[in-house]
Amino acid sequence: MPANRRCRHIEESCDEWQAGRRRLPQSKMIQKEPSSQAFIARLPKVELHVHLEGSARPETLRELVRAKGRHETVVEEWIAAREQTGFRYPHFRDFINSFTAITLLLETPADYALLTTRLCEWLAEQNVRYAEVTLSAGVVLWKKQSLEAVFEAAAAAAREAEKRLGLRVQWILDAIRQFGALHARQVLQRAARFRHEGVVAFGIGGDEARGPAELFVEVYRESRELGLHTTAHAGETAGAESVRKAVELLGAERLGHGLSAARDPEVMALLRDRQVPLEVCLSSNVATGSLARVEDHPLRKFLDEGLVVTLNTDDPAMFGTSLTREFGLAADSFSLGRETLVALCENAIRASFLEEDRKRALAAELRQAAAV
Ligand SMILES: [Zn+2]
Repeated sequence: MPANRRCRHIEESCDEWQAGRRRLPQSKMIQKEPSSQAFIARLPKVELHVHLEGSARPETLRELVRAKGRHETVVEEWIAAREQTGFRYPHFRDFINSFTAITLLLETPADYALLTTRLCEWLAEQNVRYAEVTLSAGVVLWKKQSLEAVFEAAAAAAREAEKRLGLRVQWILDAIRQFGALHARQVLQRAARFRHEGVVAFGIGGDEARGPAELFVEVYRESRELGLHTTAHAGETAGAESVRKAVELLGAERLGHGLSAARDPEVMALLRDRQVPLEVCLSSNVATGSLARVEDHPLRKFLDEGLVVTLNTDDPAMFGTSLTREFGLAADSFSLGRETLVALCENAIRASFLEEDRKRALAAELRQAAAV
């Protein structure tokens, strides 16, 4: 197929996937009732776990490199690889490599600003009213870029989008577990500096085995002292012990994934008793190989045992998904009724780091939309 036709084909395919119209290879999606899709679409939603870098859709990547006249081949190859593999990665390492390839295309603060604008537009299209967007600050430092300049550009783009689209964005600055405590403290210092410019939390992600919680106890204590909220990716690539340590040693207020908690009744009890919200990312766990199928996710068990569950996308463009699609996937894979879908939205509002009055206003808006 000629290159220009192939590109159009890829673009259309991705659009279809992201709009939830086409069956993804990694899941056996039941055809959704149109009414269920419409219901999900009209719910005012909150996204708590989305990485800015993982939100770059094919059209945004092309936009990013077009003006530079460089990296076009890299981008086309990256998109073609996602198409060929159905947005799945044989090993977690492959996903990290793919994520890194995207971050290397982000050469200037303006690149980060463009990504932010396009993410905000995409979220607004899905009726996402509030998002806590994770900026991989650790990666920016690793690239030896000015985190100050990058964050200021991204935050300015988000403020512009907020005025234009009515979507509110706050930020989580994320450090890389395997880079250790010194690196994490450098990220934390920046996060604290930007506390009054929209940064609400500090978090860690990456390799749980090579960057265990013990390394970050002091950094999390400092984070609290600096007035920042805390999150942590845990139980994504490591066992239930990693989840327990994120709660008990780090005191993380929310956990990214928490998947492996399901394997240990005591850790399940800990999450239930402390009501630590989990940022569940269904497609992500299948795409990176933690689960064979969406149906294998312990979502139903989490709900039945009284855990606080929220639905999120993680890296939506890298997994061929969107928040609207994740809600549809959850509804179909676990036979969730409308009441549960609304409860999941309410959980996200409650688990967010928004001001209390904003939470109440959003919850009222949700109840109104759900009742129509
Ligand atoms: Zn994540």
